[in-house]
Parts: sequence; structure tokens; C-alpha cells
Amino acid sequence: MNKPVILTGLRANGELHLGNYLGGMLPMVQLQAKYAGEYQVNMFVPDLHSFTTPIDHGKLYLQIVQNLKLFVAAGLDISNDDTYIYRQSYVPMHSELTWILDCFTYFGELSRMTEFKDKASRLGHESISVGLYNYPALMAADILLYAAKYVPVGDDQRQHIELTRDIALRMNNKFNKDLFVVPAEWTEQVAFAERDAGVRIKSLRNPTKKMSKSIDDPAGTILLTDAPEAAVKKIMGAETDSLGVIHYDIEAQPGISNLLQILALLINEPLSRVADTWDGKTAYSDLKKAVANEVKVFLHDFQTKLAAVNEADLLRKLEASEFLMRDVAGQRLYKIQQAVGLRP
Ligand code: ATP
Ligand code: MG
Repeated sequence: MNKPVILTGLRANGELHLGNYLGGMLPMVQLQAKYAGEYQVNMFVPDLHSFTTPIDHGKLYLQIVQNLKLFVAAGLDISNDDTYIYRQSYVPMHSELTWILDCFTYFGELSRMTEFKDKASRLGHESISVGLYNYPALMAADILLYAAKYVPVGDDQRQHIELTRDIALRMNNKFNKDLFVVPAEWTEQVAFAERDAGVRIKSLRNPTKKMSKSIDDPAGTILLTDAPEAAVKKIMGAETDSLGVIHYDIEAQPGISNLLQILALLINEPLSRVADTWDGKTAYSDLKKAVANEVKVFLHDFQTKLAAVNEADLLRKLEASEFLMRDVAGQRLYKIQQAVGLRP
């Protein structure tokens, strides 16, 4: 248990999509394979994050179990002894640490989080929960409880990783320089995951906005459970531009750039190389066909693996991991309680 930790989570507030896979799950499974034996891998379902925005609570539990199966379908090797899967709410120390961190996190900091501002702008004032406002502190607790150095997440989470670093550094300065392991800076995180830049997959219908679980945008979103042929149609119908020449430029050609990004990640090549290959070509439909084909192959393979997940093995691993994580998290929480003066 003394290995450095790589950690990520995907909340269970709706069906997972290609952006979740490419931004959060794929780097995690690639890192697990690359660093087997060297790093501890924590991949969890942050179930307490699931209802910061309104959901159907009757479906939540099934979605939590579904997310765990998706991890395995994505390639997470749960037979690996350094890998742990768990549900956040089964490790109650997350909630207590959140409260402690809350008292060292400033109102102004949380108010500046663009995720909060984006989501709040979509809700009526009376429906913006305090949980939505506060969720970056819970996310900081999720990371700091396990001393995770690397946290593979999509680019939309960058600000929250930076906030986690700020809180950890602030508390280390105040109490004890070894209290928290400070997660790596964003550029180091991106380099560790071997990416050219942070990953933010856009809606196929509205390529200036990210693909999201909580936005109803069926034509713009490829769900991991979409029939491959339906996904092909969505890619072929993706919004592009009228410039007529392929060039990777997020500002001027967001739709084309999004397709190049999806292609690069699915064929596991650097974005720069894929962008160079297609640069200057004029047939947008060729690019769409190439992406559609990769998406189709990916979904077929993913869904075959999903159908084959052994639920009994999964639940055994889950319960064993949760038992261990309560111990690890409990020990770290005790040190933090001591540092702030709650324990002798
Ligand atoms: P919501 O809209 O409810 O916030 P979400 O699609 O953003 O849902 P999360 O559960 O918030 O999903 O995020 C899970 C992981 O997926 C995180 O690592 C996040 O950065 C990543 N992620 C989410 N959307 C994208 C995207 N469009 N591109 C790349 N990564 C993404
Ligand atoms: Mg999100």
C-alpha cells in the first residue's frame, strides 16, 4: 500500500458517453497497464456527487453498479492486486474530510469554478443546491484521502485539480508540510497521461460545448451503450463548418478539431500526428467516415466486453476494496483530525 497512487472517478448521474471514456476511463486503463506493479490504482464511483444536480433517484443504484461494469468493459483489470474499486459513500471518511476542507476553502474560490457557473446557469436560482457549489471540496477530499499524485480526468476538471492543490498546500503550510500529498500540476498530469493537451470532447451538435451527461443532447452525444450504427449516424451528422479545408483549430473549426481529437484517441496516436495527416484535405466526409468507423469498432468491442462482465467477481472485488479503503482512509483522516486539533 506504499506505492504512489493514480485515482479517478466518474459520477453516476446518467449514462456515460464517449467523452467520459476518452477523458477519464481510457487514460486510467492505459496507465494501469503501463505501470502495473509500480503504482496503486483507485477507480471509484463518486456516488455522493451524483445528485449535486437533479437526477432520478430510483435509477441511481443501478447506475452505480453499471458504472463499475463500464470500468471493466473499458479494460480495467480488477484482478490486479494494486487496483481498488469502490463506492465513495461506502467509505464515510470522504464526507468528514469534506467538512474539514470546507473550513479551509474560501467562498470566493468556489464561486469562481466555471463548472459551477455553467451548471448553475442552467438551473433556476432556487434549484442550485449547496451540494453543487461545494462539490469541488468533496472532490478534493476524494483525492487527498488517498494521497493521489495523478488524477486522470478530462480538461473540464482542471480547475478542480488546481483547487485541490491550493487547499492541500494551504493546509500543509498551516499545519504540517507532510499532511497532504499535493497532486501534480495540470501540465504534469497531462504529460503523465501521455496527452498533447487536456482532453475535452465536444457535443457533435454544438462543438463549442462539451459532451455532458447532464445535458439532454442525444444527437450530439455518443453513449457507451449506443448501437454502433446509431453512433455512425451521429458522427456523419456532426456539425462542422463551411471553410472546406481540414485544419486543427479549436476556435475556427471546433467541429473538425473535435473529430480529429476523437480519432487520435481511438487509434491511440498523438493528436499532432493525426492533425498533420488530415491537414489540408478537403473532403470532410472522408474524415467523418474514418471517425465513424473507429467509433463503430470501439463500441462493438466495448459492448461485447460489457456483456461479458462477471458480476460476482466484480462485487467480490468491490467489497474487498471498500473494506481496505475504509482502513486506509480512516488512518489518514485520523492524522488530519490530529493536525487540526480534534484528536490528541
Ligand atoms: P455532468 O454533465 O453531469 O457533469 P460529465 O459528462 O461531465 O457529467 P462527470 O461524471 O462529471 O461527467 O465526469 C467524469 C469524467 O469524465 C471526468 O474525468 C471528466 O473530466 C470526464 N469528462 C466529462 N465530460 C468530458 C468530455 N466531454 N471530454 C472529456 N472528458 C470528459
Ligand atoms: Mg462533469
